[in-house]
Amino acid sequence: MNARQHAIESIGTQTSLRQGLVDYRTSSLTDIYASCVFTESVQKERLPAEIFDSLQQTIKSGGGLDPAIAPAIASAMRDWAMERGATHYSHWFQPLTGQTAEKHDSFLTPSGPLKAIAKFSGNELIRGESDASSFPSGGLRATFEARGYTAWDPSSPAFILENANGATLVIPTMFVSWTGDSLDQKTPMLRSLDALNRQALRVLRLFGNTSANRVECTLGVEQEYFLVDRQIAFQRPDLLVCGRTLFGAKPLKGQELEDNYFGAIPERVLAFMTEVEFELMKLGVPIKTRHNEAAPGQFELAPTFETTNLALDHQMLVMQILRQVARRHGFLCLLHEKPFAGVNGSGKHNNWSIGTDTGENLLEPGATPESNAQYLLFCSAVCRAVHKYAKLLRLSAASPQNDFRLGAAEAPPAIMSVYLGKDLTDVLEFIANGSSDDFHHDDSIQSSIGLPILRKLKRHTGDRNRTSPFAFTGNKFEFRAVGSSQNSAAAVTVINTIVAESLDYAATNIEAGLAEGKDFKTVVHDLLREMINEFRPILFNGDNYSMDWVEESEQRGLPNLKDTVDCLPVLMEQESIDLFGKYGVYSQSELHSRQEILAENYCTVCSIEANAMLRIAQTMILPAVLRHKANIFPALTTITQRKILQELDENLDLLVQSISELKKRLAGVRPQMDVLEKAQYYRDVVLKGMYALRVIADYLETLTEDSIWPLPNYFELLSIR
Ligand code: ADP
Ligand code: MG
Repeated sequence: MNARQHAIESIGTQTSLRQGLVDYRTSSLTDIYASCVFTESVQKERLPAEIFDSLQQTIKSGGGLDPAIAPAIASAMRDWAMERGATHYSHWFQPLTGQTAEKHDSFLTPSGPLKAIAKFSGNELIRGESDASSFPSGGLRATFEARGYTAWDPSSPAFILENANGATLVIPTMFVSWTGDSLDQKTPMLRSLDALNRQALRVLRLFGNTSANRVECTLGVEQEYFLVDRQIAFQRPDLLVCGRTLFGAKPLKGQELEDNYFGAIPERVLAFMTEVEFELMKLGVPIKTRHNEAAPGQFELAPTFETTNLALDHQMLVMQILRQVARRHGFLCLLHEKPFAGVNGSGKHNNWSIGTDTGENLLEPGATPESNAQYLLFCSAVCRAVHKYAKLLRLSAASPQNDFRLGAAEAPPAIMSVYLGKDLTDVLEFIANGSSDDFHHDDSIQSSIGLPILRKLKRHTGDRNRTSPFAFTGNKFEFRAVGSSQNSAAAVTVINTIVAESLDYAATNIEAGLAEGKDFKTVVHDLLREMINEFRPILFNGDNYSMDWVEESEQRGLPNLKDTVDCLPVLMEQESIDLFGKYGVYSQSELHSRQEILAENYCTVCSIEANAMLRIAQTMILPAVLRHKANIFPALTTITQRKILQELDENLDLLVQSISELKKRLAGVRPQMDVLEKAQYYRDVVLKGMYALRVIADYLETLTEDSIWPLPNYFELLSIR
């Protein structure tokens, strides 16, 4: 037996589970929930009344914090955190690495010779300095101005992260350069929320709504992931280095039997999930659902939706806790979008809606005819936005990892379209044409503003189209293209901004109509008709995975940006610069920096993977095949047996050739190429060389004696739990 087989055997005989963490018969779910969060009720209990009111006012209005109240808040936070075992505090932010960042500082502050006090000042709460030069900035920050700073975001509450030997008070922050450019994902996202709020309120006021003070968007992000046993994962350098398998023949049994989705959750996995949920519950993350996903070894967890900023911070915590807790249960959690070729990839479904601070979901058909017209207008504004800015939306989910998923057979394609379901499509067609296939006047009540309201619309339609990248699901849109390891903030920022632009367009149009003396009904009806005729090509209720759709979408003039490299130019198109500039979400230099970072990241990921492939091929695969050949060689005497040898030899030759070919291609990267050229070269030349090497190595896996093959195979990785 080789090391791989030993590892597999030991997993098979291992029986103990990690358990006894918490006894829910004596501890209640509701007491544990948010027990590590500096919640509104903790704030109320611990802050002087006027300071509490002022903080709440800041949080609700989204405005700036009065620095005068910061010291009192900081000291209340410190007391609360120290009672819970915290010794340190940390500003926590989301730089453009895709991960979160933290730097811990102790409360301990010397107050004299060998004397100390525990201190956390107002200044330390609201602002932290950070050397920005070690984070990606895409040229935003010249090396002579390396400072960046983190600024407290009061709209996301502080929380405590426990560790094995203590705890840290964590302060969610934004991360900006000294010149005010955003170096993170959160700052533009908060700006986009503001843009959406302003434009949505304008539309609501036109519909006579005077009670709403703020429009917020809500977000519920479903997270898919794989679990692989650590003992065997450690024998796969590709999984450890790249988060995905660079080699691996098709498994003996994959998902063909369709016996995984919603199947019984394996005991070891359930023990893991329960601990993940316990940790997340303490942090106030409202995890609701857990289940097996379609592929073997693939699972999903979904929270109840929350306001967007909080949901996004929570989403980053979900990924962190999944990875951490996996280790305690002997698993490696893979958040990569496509860890296994030929097996379902992992996504992150962003359920997005907009609602008022008075509790009205603006994407939900209302009780009155007027609110139905308003609902149709908001839905139409979203469709118009997706149609007009399909390329930006596509770009928002682009990453080298997600390239292996989008457009592959099981994932929503790279072509953006909107699924509305039959009922809503029929109503829109009826508004646009005065008639539609299946929609009759007697199905509807003619509303007081002249729009048809389908009784059916009042119910959530059960319809689902799992192939659509942007599906309306009753009272929210579900953007399914985002990858499992991505920070959803980028996608949410784009959705908020493009919808804000559509609402701006709608409000401006209605205002102009009213100014011309037209009546409200006519203006809204005309506007809807015009918008529907404009965005009609984006509506598609059919199978997004079919080849016919690729052709049809092309005829409809919809863009098909197949990969990250295709998406890169979109960031610097005039239309993008104008859009983000108009709503103050990204400046031109911020957009440029994002383009640089994405392109650099694409090249780096590709280069790391190509080099890892070469190393594995040369130091693991080639020696294994040679050993196999030496083993069987003496036994091969007859002509038939010699044919076995001949096949092996031919493939060995091909392996050696594709190794040297990939080296040659890698060596072709020239320093004088600009970053976009370089990204193109990696995609067109290096990736193809990697693919060729993989095909031959995977074939050799099926020819080589099992006890010699060093890499745990797909069946072992996917099915052993
Ligand atoms: P599925 O898409 O698998 O059928 P659900 O209908 O249960 O799942 O919803 C999936 C996600 O959508 C959950 O995270 C849920 O909280 C979220 N969601 C539901 N309503 C809204 C809303 N108004 N805004 C944002 N997200 C929502
Ligand atoms: Mg879903």
